[in-house]
Amino acid sequence: MTDAAGPDDAFVLYDLKVEVVQGDKPMVCNHKVGDHFFLSGENLSLPPGQTFAIYPLAAILPLLPAKQRETHRNDWMTTDAEIACPDPYCGGRFRITRTGKRTFRHSEVTLVPLDAPGFKAEGV
Ligand SMILES: [Zn+2]
Repeated sequence: MTDAAGPDDAFVLYDLKVEVVQGDKPMVCNHKVGDHFFLSGENLSLPPGQTFAIYPLAAILPLLPAKQRETHRNDWMTTDAEIACPDPYCGGRFRITRTGKRTFRHSEVTLVPLDAPGFKAEGV
């Protein structure tokens, strides 16, 4: 039996790109316009030789799992894509872009069974 995503335990997440864009003030941190990283599933990757400061990363991280998932068209998480640098003197912004979809299998990312006690998926 299959669903829209493929095999029974398949699910889909968006791949993301997070890129530095210019805000309305000069940037004071060491990030530069165009610096970026990619997120695919749980894996973050940077271009060779590029760094990414931990302070803006800490501000961005909580939003990434939501951006990886399908969201309602009216949800602000669907429309809002820029995160401000946590340094109040820095004009850096970080734009999150959904770059594609990737299929994962529940059985490959967790040992918790789909019919675990206390869990009931919507529509099941
Ligand atoms: Zn900054």
